Amino acid sequence: MPNQPDVLEKLVSLCKRRGFIFQSSEIYGGAGSVWDYGPLGVELKKNVKDRWWHAMVRARDDIEGLDAAILMHPRVWEASGHVAGFTDPLVDCRNCKKRFRADDPKIKGVPGTPEAQCPACGMKGTLSEARLFNLMFKTFMGPVEESASVVYLRPETAQGIYVNFLNVQQSTRQKVPFGIAQIGKAFRNEITPGNFIFRTREFEQMEMQFFVEPGTDMHWFEYWKEQRMNWHKDLGLDPSRLLFHQHTKEELAHYARAAFDVQFDFGGTLGFQEIEGVHNRGDFDLSRHQEYSGKKLEYFDQPNNRRYVPYVVETSVGADRTTLAVLVNAYKEETVAGEEEGRTVLAIHPSLAPIKAGVFGMQRTIGRLLPNQRSS
Ligand SMILES: [Zn+2]
Repeated sequence: MPNQPDVLEKLVSLCKRRGFIFQSSEIYGGAGSVWDYGPLGVELKKNVKDRWWHAMVRARDDIEGLDAAILMHPRVWEASGHVAGFTDPLVDCRNCKKRFRADDPKIKGVPGTPEAQCPACGMKGTLSEARLFNLMFKTFMGPVEESASVVYLRPETAQGIYVNFLNVQQSTRQKVPFGIAQIGKAFRNEITPGNFIFRTREFEQMEMQFFVEPGTDMHWFEYWKEQRMNWHKDLGLDPSRLLFHQHTKEELAHYARAAFDVQFDFGGTLGFQEIEGVHNRGDFDLSRHQEYSGKKLEYFDQPNNRRYVPYVVETSVGADRTTLAVLVNAYKEETVAGEEEGRTVLAIHPSLAPIKAGVFGMQRTIGRLLPNQRSS
């Protein structure tokens, strides 16, 4: 497979010059791995989100939209397993960026020493010392810090969907199989962020949880894999830069029944990286929330007079990562006949392009459109 060129560095500078993406708080030296979308960037990203919302919600009868709040009851993150990390010492691999529990039996040697070997990539000496670490941003809800309760900035939007499963199902009278979709901000205090807007501490997710009858889950899993890959191709992403990566046994979460990533080739050393995950999560999420909340989260299948906890097939795609993929895919350096200097072009799919058409007055000094050049 021919290696795609590394355009990331040039893209960062182009995105700043043209008003796509700026470093957050730049005049203060910047905030680590946080980025702001400028006038063109916000339009591009919004177009990506609109295409997703249209494909996943508006064009379908079997998916409902939702906009759950970022702040949630702290027990949500106990049920989801996200809080457990506070008490578990973790070890990071500097090479493959995977994180393990320090007591993971697959780790050979003592983490932090040169002999220790990463169970995922096999490199030696790349494992950090064990430390207590949690990816969630913590804050306080209530007027006085000491008496207030700890809340978290959500590390994923999915939990807002699970806890609203019955609210949505009963208010819309949807029958299983059906899905709930939402777009929203999520926050992760990443130890190793980087690569422009690829891995950031504040990011936007486009997630859809599809609730299905147990036993039909692999059928729907295959269905959503295909749908989602086609969506990326429809954005104009070069098909030769897209592939599926199946999670190995080591990568698979303990509750997951199957998982594939859609990967995009960002070129250079970054290469193929995940932009979307399609996961068969079984009944893990709803069962956990049932257990922690004490509320039944069963679906009543009326024709068959049967109650069950649905399985979930999840599609989770990063709005920022997809925007970056679109930009990398669009970046072209062209030579111009008769001119010494070439030009840099962003060949963006018309439906995503921030500007669809331009009308340029002959008098450049006027600097603004004449009234009859402004479309209504
Ligand atoms: Zn590793």
